[in-house]
Amino acid sequence: MNTPVVSPSVSRRQFLGQISAAGAVAFAPRSLFGADAQKKLGVAIVGLGGYATGQLRPAMKLTKNCRLAGVVTGSREKGMKWAQEFGFPETSVYGYDTMAQMAGNPDIDIVYVVTPNGLHAQHVIAAAKAGKHVITEKPMANTVADCDAMIAACKTAGVKLSVGYRLHFDPFHEELRRLVRTQEFGPFTKMDGGFAFVMGTMQWRAQKQLAGGGPLMDLGVYVLQETLMATGEVPPVAISAMELPKKRPEFFVDVEETIKWTMEFANGARCEGYTSYNDNRNDFRAEASGGWYQVGPAYSYSGLKAATSLGPVAATPLKSQQALQIDDFALCVRDGLNSRVPGEMGRRDMVMVEAVYASAAAGGKRIEVRV
Ligand code: NAD
Repeated sequence: MNTPVVSPSVSRRQFLGQISAAGAVAFAPRSLFGADAQKKLGVAIVGLGGYATGQLRPAMKLTKNCRLAGVVTGSREKGMKWAQEFGFPETSVYGYDTMAQMAGNPDIDIVYVVTPNGLHAQHVIAAAKAGKHVITEKPMANTVADCDAMIAACKTAGVKLSVGYRLHFDPFHEELRRLVRTQEFGPFTKMDGGFAFVMGTMQWRAQKQLAGGGPLMDLGVYVLQETLMATGEVPPVAISAMELPKKRPEFFVDVEETIKWTMEFANGARCEGYTSYNDNRNDFRAEASGGWYQVGPAYSYSGLKAATSLGPVAATPLKSQQALQIDDFALCVRDGLNSRVPGEMGRRDMVMVEAVYASAAAGGKRIEVRV
């Protein structure tokens, strides 16, 4: 795995155009025109695990543009409880093998895939085939090839695809994007970020087939995301990476426990990234000639703190990053706008993830990145 990571299907210019065109009118699904224009869209959550229950469930009680209208679960009993709580019919409780039947359910406009990473592709494709717009959780999939298949399926079905990148809706991170837009400090050229926690219990996150990898897939992707916020969504030209020796090899059999990487950008900027399932970090810092920005805790659901060289960032914390993120997608669907966190962005991040793994596998070789 020491060859350059090359995109066969989307040129860098096409991709950057798609990202920067966020907000432009793309298409308007016919069923959402006219009298229905202001209706709350129906969302069905696929996979009622920790994130769906702990974060998306309360978020769906705060959304203004959409409401929970169904679930897909392996436990019909659990699904019935959600139906009761949110007031949708039992007929809107589906199993993973009956997702195709959602095609006949006009109450469901959007499907939110919250299953283990390695299952995102099959669930997104099933939702698209049922004619539903889709949000998939991060990381978008296990591989760039899977991302391509997901994007193609949504394109064929004429539905939108978005990734659950909630931090794009958080005000502390918005300050970083504002600094990039205004160039108040000039371009950020020296960046450093890490996200790590100590994984205590054995679960799918430590199994390559379901997780795609170790902490890079789960946590490191946030650092990659944040770095590209700091570059104005300009991807790196090259990545080199090193896996660190495992302290608990019995736990992390076929995935990394800790990995660090260096990203190089065309303008000379660099970022040092770090992620681990056996450490504690939750930070990002970006320096420019005219000032700096830093955030930490950086990637949490709440309690974020950010500062710049001018002082603390005064932002009102959100009640729920997720509510804003889901509402924004509902608006994109309803009004025919492009999501600011589209499938192409999730795919871009997987190109970087594959470059990190390719470099680490080749002993730290510099891998050129072509998104
Ligand atoms: P989880 O293990 O708590 O839940 C996973 C759900 O998928 C469970 O309901 C489980 O029953 C279901 N599932 C279906 N088929 C399965 C299979 N073959 N093996 C295992 N589970 C299966 O995981 P989670 O923490 O809810 O994570 C789900 C997704 O959400 C992941 O992609 C994760 O990266 C993402 N996530 C995102 C955030 C965020 O902040 N955006 C936070 C946590 C998790």
